[in-house]
Formats: sequence, C-alpha cells, structure tokens
Amino acid sequence: MTLAFVVNSGSSSIKWELLEAESGESVRRGIVERIGEAGGDAADHRQAMTSIIGMLGAEHPVVIGHRVVHGGDLFSAATVVTPEVEAAIEKLSSLAPLHNPSNLAGIRAAQVAFPGIPNVAVFDTAFHQSLAPAAYTYAIDAQVAADHSVRRYGFHGTSYQYVSRRAAEVLERPLGDLRLIVFHLGNGASACAIAGGRSVDTSMGMTPLEGLVMGTRSGDLDPGALFHLAREAGLGTPELDTLLNRRSGILGLSGHGDMRDLVESMKAGDAASRLAFDVYVHRLRHYLGAYIAQLGGVDAVVFTAGVGENSPDVRAGALAGLGGLGIHLDAARNARRSPEPRRISTDDSPVAVLVVPTNEELEIARQSLAALG
Ligand code: ADP
Repeated sequence: MTLAFVVNSGSSSIKWELLEAESGESVRRGIVERIGEAGGDAADHRQAMTSIIGMLGAEHPVVIGHRVVHGGDLFSAATVVTPEVEAAIEKLSSLAPLHNPSNLAGIRAAQVAFPGIPNVAVFDTAFHQSLAPAAYTYAIDAQVAADHSVRRYGFHGTSYQYVSRRAAEVLERPLGDLRLIVFHLGNGASACAIAGGRSVDTSMGMTPLEGLVMGTRSGDLDPGALFHLAREAGLGTPELDTLLNRRSGILGLSGHGDMRDLVESMKAGDAASRLAFDVYVHRLRHYLGAYIAQLGGVDAVVFTAGVGENSPDVRAGALAGLGGLGIHLDAARNARRSPEPRRISTDDSPVAVLVVPTNEELEIARQSLAALG
C-alpha cells in the first residue's frame, strides 16, 4: 500500500484526503473549517494540521501532495518542496494573493506536523506551461507585460491532466493521438484544448477570471467596461474586483449562483434565469468553436466537474445543432445519471462526447509520488 496525503489549504479551511495511490481508493478524508475564526475548528493552519494527524490513525503517508494555485512560469510539473520552492511560491503570491499564501501555510504546517515526510507542490497552472507564445501572450505593451508578469497562465491543470488520461482510456486510444476539448465546469469554470496530451489553449488567463461564465465570475468582458464603470459609477479597484469575481456570472444575471437552482428557476419560467443559462451556454459554444479551429478538428468533447458531470441541460445546450461539425449527442445517454466515465454521443457520431468525473486529489497523489522519483 502506497499512501499519499493530499492537502488543499485555503485561507480558512484545509481539505484533506488520504488515498491509496495505485488503486485510487480513498482511505479517509475530511475538512477543517473556519480556521482562525471565533468558534472555528482551529486557531491557525498549524493547529488544524495537528488535529488532522489525530484523524489519520496509524496509516503513514509516504508523501504529502499540496494543491498550489499559481506556479507562474516557474513550474511546469509537480515539484518536491525545498526552501527555494517555498520562496518561489511566496514570490508568486503577487499573482494569486488569495491563494498562494494559504497554500504555503498548508505546506509549512505539514512540515511541522509530519517531520521527515516529503512535501510536493502540485500547481494548477503547470499543465498549461506547454502553451505556445502566440496562445499565452496578451497584445499589450510588451515591456509593461514583462515587468509585471502579465500573460495567460491558465488553471484547473490538475483536473485536465486527470480527465484527459481517463478520456483516452474510455476511448481506448493513445492520448498522444487525440485532440480533446475539455470543459471543466464547476463554480469556477474553464475550457482547454489538448493535443497529444498537451495543453495548447485554455480559457482562464492571468487570473481565474477570464473565459467562461462562472457561478459568480463574469468571465470574458471588454476591459473598456471597467474604465467606464470607474469613470461613470466611481467604482475603485476593490469594488470592481468584487463585482467581477463575486457578483457576476450566473449569480449576477439571475440571483442563482448554483446551476441546479438556475435550471430549476429557468424551467419554472423565470426570464432572468433563462437569459443567464443562455449566456452561459453561448460562451461554451464560443470556446468550442475557437478550439476546434486551434486544434484543426476534434476527436472528443469532454465534460467534467459539478456542472459538466451533472447537468444534461448544459451539455445539450452546448452541443445542440452541431451535426455539421460531426457532433451528435445521444439524448437518452445524456440524460442518464452515473458516477462513471461514459460516452454520451451516438454510436456513429464522428466526434465522441464524454462525461468524465474529475478526481483532482488522486491526480495530486499520483503526481506527488511521481515527483519523488
Ligand atoms: P468547485 O468548482 O467548487 O469544485 P464543483 O465542481 O463541485 O465546484 O461544481 C459545483 C457546481 O456544480 C455548482 O454550480 C452546482 O450547482 C453544480 N451541480 C452539482 N450538481 C448538479 C446537478 N445535478 N445539476 C446541475 N448542476 C449541478
């Protein structure tokens, strides 16, 4: 048994899972919440980690894998944590001020709580380091961009790696031969064009705000709208940040940030919910078309994460009327619920459509073990 301990450390919570890396079996999992808050589970990350040790029992992991949101252009693979790696994660906090410091707090707490067990950082951005300059460069003043690290990095990379490998297994074809378009649709949502197992384009950019419509985030928006709101509505940087990250997306359009509630309300006849759903789907189709062109065709379209795995309405909307592109959804297969990876296109559809449940914890566990060599 090779056990890996996977840590997702946020500002006020630590999600953890102990898993058997080869079989993928989850041995134990939990979450310590409201860290540092009155009445919370722990005063700080270190105390939280100590309480987690108590829950692990006799099992000892051989590695601790940490989800780290931003690896900038410094990390293109999972990396064993050294003092230099810690310093780099800290330095990259300017790119992910809400996430990297909390991720680092989890790493430091684990070093104290589990002396002698190696820690590995697994970056959300690493998979997208394969993007070509034409795909990751924003067309702004090159010197300003270079001085401030302004470029597309992309996120959800761990999920894309897991899902693309599983998709190849379902298709019974080598990943190296496949052109995939994967939609990771959770509260945060993004799309990725994958050729031969490598990311060639992705919809999130310098930050996780660009691209698809999300639960509370706007996705793509004319930056000119921000200048307009600053001038006309007097909004400052914090207000604009809150508007686009927390009060936009399907929540901002309809009052429903949860896709289940949105679909229910839409089906009950609510016009704002209808529009929010239509905008969400319109954006999915925008990226689908773009990525078919970037890839020069597509072998499979893959849906994953909360919405992608569970919403037949979203999948049907995204792919309706695309027979001309070789995409034929099977309505009955699409409607069926299952926790298993599955094909939801018709048998004779030239492009396969799959639902592949993601498992970021397992991917972090496996990449962490691989990083140990
Ligand atoms: P996170 O990005 O926080 O990891 P998840 O991947 O768990 O999020 O996805 C959360 C989203 O999945 C929510 O918007 C939720 O409404 C949606 N979801 C979960 N189950 C369903 C369902 N049966 N139908 C539609 N949406 C669903």
